[in-house]
Amino acid sequence: MLFPLKFKPKESYHEAPRNFGARRDHGNRKHAGCDLYAAVETPIMAVEDGVVLEAAPFYLGSWAVVVDHTSFVVRYGEVSKNIPSGVRPGQKVLRGQIIAHVGHLAKINMSMLHFEMYQGTGTGPLTNVRNRPYMRRSDLLDPTPYLDAATLDAGGLGAMGETPLFAGFRDGSNQLRPWVVPFF
Ligand SMILES: [Zn+2]
Repeated sequence: MLFPLKFKPKESYHEAPRNFGARRDHGNRKHAGCDLYAAVETPIMAVEDGVVLEAAPFYLGSWAVVVDHTSFVVRYGEVSKNIPSGVRPGQKVLRGQIIAHVGHLAKINMSMLHFEMYQGTGTGPLTNVRNRPYMRRSDLLDPTPYLDAATLDAGGLGAMGETPLFAGFRDGSNQLRPWVVPFF
């Protein structure tokens, strides 16, 4: 599986409040995904080939894209409502394709990719407020080990909406050199 961003956020998705299972709503709910902090409009890539199941409003003015990746289903949550053309229910997406951008969460003024995974064996809506503590469909997965094992695609320079901050550095002759060792 490909990591959905071109970098690993410096704020770990292993730690609260970003981790899977973190307390929400004063302990009445557990966090159903991993939060990957990133700037608004950061490109989000499909982690595998797949078929779009849904693109719909999600939370605090953000949207979510749901993709069936065959061996699992991912809800890419808290993304911008400006979903790229080609990312509509029934359409195929390729591993590495930009399928959304990080959205802005109104009121709390934060931005992140909320990454949720499902085994794909369940039926019906992914959100199920009666199924505590996660309030999600029963085939919900902990995405942490998948993200840990994911391939980081630092990418071709300038390709696919590369964030200049992460692209590389200028050497003595002002050549743009890629980072050899990730620095974050
Ligand atoms: Zn979240």
